[in-house]
Amino acid sequence: MSKKKAFKAESKRLLDLMINSIYTHKEIFLRELISNASDAIDKYYYLSLSDENITADRSALKIQLSVDKEHRTLTISDNGIGMNKDELEENLGTIAKSGSLAFKEKMEAEEKNDEDVDIIGQFGVGFYSAFMVASDVVVESRKAGEEEAYRWESNAVDGYTIDKCEKAEHGTTITLVLKEDSEDEKYSQYLETYEIENLIKKYSDYIRYPITMFVSHE
Ligand code: ADP
Ligand code: MG
Repeated sequence: MSKKKAFKAESKRLLDLMINSIYTHKEIFLRELISNASDAIDKYYYLSLSDENITADRSALKIQLSVDKEHRTLTISDNGIGMNKDELEENLGTIAKSGSLAFKEKMEAEEKNDEDVDIIGQFGVGFYSAFMVASDVVVESRKAGEEEAYRWESNAVDGYTIDKCEKAEHGTTITLVLKEDSEDEKYSQYLETYEIENLIKKYSDYIRYPITMFVSHE
């Protein structure tokens, strides 16, 4: 195992906000992860148009969701462009990225405190929104055109690790270990097929790639 790395200070603040979020529409995490998956497939497709070493079978481009009730995991998988080690570090260890950055700036501009999270829904808050519903997030990714794959893993609280892993195809697989249910918050709902389907209809209807669903350990 590699050494744990700390998140950059500005990321940590956003993460803390996500972990402790009392925001009522936590369900938007799925919209964020699906939109990232779709962006990654777009990038892969465009790359294939200019890079003769990469051929994209258009009909094979897809987003796959799966749930495992026994292990309380929800997985979002894409066969898009993927990320190499440096990109995992850069893209998931900092919040230099568009949606999250705009969110943070707005937070600061309005001097919002961490309890006041009403504005979450107005933004594409991005990848970190996964930590509203997950205690652990594992990202396994293989960059198109590269041989090696890497696993980024974090519980948000004490940083993240990046290690080599096996992955047969290019793209990214994100596994969320859902938080335990509490009196007010039923995270287990995100293990239910009908709930996931509703969320996809509600937020991700415009996605141009097929989204499929797989259920194990019913
Ligand atoms: P944004 O989508 O606004 O850039 P996010 O926080 O949602 O911000 O994602 C941060 C970055 O992480 C993305 O810009 C992208 O580079 C990378 N990323 C996230 N999810 C994926 C994915 N499924 N495949 C490839 N790259 C991804
Ligand atoms: Mg995004």
